[in-house]
Amino acid sequence: MKKFLSISAFLATFICLLLTGVTEAQASEAASIHQVIETPLPIYLDASEESSVLGYLTQGDFVSAEISQSEWTYIHANGFTGYVFSSGITKAQSTKYLVNKKEGTYLYTYPSPTAQKNGTVFDKSIVNVYGTAPGGWSYVQYGHQVGYVASNSLKLPTVTKKRVNAVKGAQIHLTASPSSEEIGTITHQTVVEQYTSIAGWAYVEAGEQKGYVKASELTDPVSLGNKTYNQGVAVANGQVKRVALTFDDGPDAKVTLQILAILKKYEAKATFFMVGRNVSKNQAIVKQIYEEGHEIGNHTWNHPKLTSLSKANVKQEIDNTSNAIYKAIGQNPTVFRPPYGATSNQVRSVLSMPTILWSVDTLDWKHRNAAKILSYVKTSAKDGSIILMHDIHQSTANGLENVILYLQKQGYELVTVSEILQ
Ligand code: ZN
Repeated sequence: MKKFLSISAFLATFICLLLTGVTEAQASEAASIHQVIETPLPIYLDASEESSVLGYLTQGDFVSAEISQSEWTYIHANGFTGYVFSSGITKAQSTKYLVNKKEGTYLYTYPSPTAQKNGTVFDKSIVNVYGTAPGGWSYVQYGHQVGYVASNSLKLPTVTKKRVNAVKGAQIHLTASPSSEEIGTITHQTVVEQYTSIAGWAYVEAGEQKGYVKASELTDPVSLGNKTYNQGVAVANGQVKRVALTFDDGPDAKVTLQILAILKKYEAKATFFMVGRNVSKNQAIVKQIYEEGHEIGNHTWNHPKLTSLSKANVKQEIDNTSNAIYKAIGQNPTVFRPPYGATSNQVRSVLSMPTILWSVDTLDWKHRNAAKILSYVKTSAKDGSIILMHDIHQSTANGLENVILYLQKQGYELVTVSEILQ
């Protein structure tokens, strides 16, 4: 072992490059960055201790891991490509930084200005920084590219909130380029955190979704203001009619899950106005609601009649609930519904989101009769309706399937409430 230790990774890299020539390895998707926790960590040509050792890594070195079998991980590091023991590396955490250099900044294979340049990252790009190396270097990832950049070319970004304005949602790209691969879509009306805007592109995050979207597909998150709506807009002739199903007072550990399963079965979207104290008890369900594409609304913490409370207490009811929702999904609620529909100028003055009332009351809380829900919907639902139900009553879950079947047969698309606001 001793004689191997005397060979530095740099020298080994140099020899390796001489032997094999410079090849730029391109990953098919963004690799995950790991850090070496064992010194020395040999890099093998194949996933076998019998195969040749290409070089050694030292504790703290960064590697980009491509494929992980249980015992071996295929990596790129310091110009090498090969296999290391999976136990010798651990997944690294990153922080987002903004490139703050007019001409951009070079990515180097290892932390030295004489190292091979892997590419340039443009000014105002967002990179993931996994750590630093002596001499003023930061190890970063940008799209498929990884390497070291000068730390003084980076600064912390200022994060602002935006809302997806494109009706079809905003397509996420890996880098700020139309030719870079699409890695997902952020749905209409989602509130996102924007880290930078560069040549018509914005780097945004919404929960687990992150990447570059077209800046033109975003708008100010509070453009809906704190107006009050009791119904949505009807669409122009020839377009699909829409209604918004809304569920109040949950989440409930049993009924909400039943409702989610029915919505999923019919590819219907809905809005859940949640009571804060139920949010804190059912965080996993809140996350599931969000991840399945439904909208999440604030319905106060304790369900009081807000018009009887002081302004400070109204604010507390609303803020505590928004904070609990943020804790569960990493996003604030986008809409608000006051309990009993009781609102006032004082209540609206503490809100930065729209107040949503309703145009069709199913009275499900009162009659607790699955079949009656449908009869109220049949009588009153029209294009742009906001339909009020509660996801805490078993009878509501039991009646929902027939409500959806009826509405879809009538040609309605079932959408989140923000989608029918104007
Ligand atoms: Zn309620």
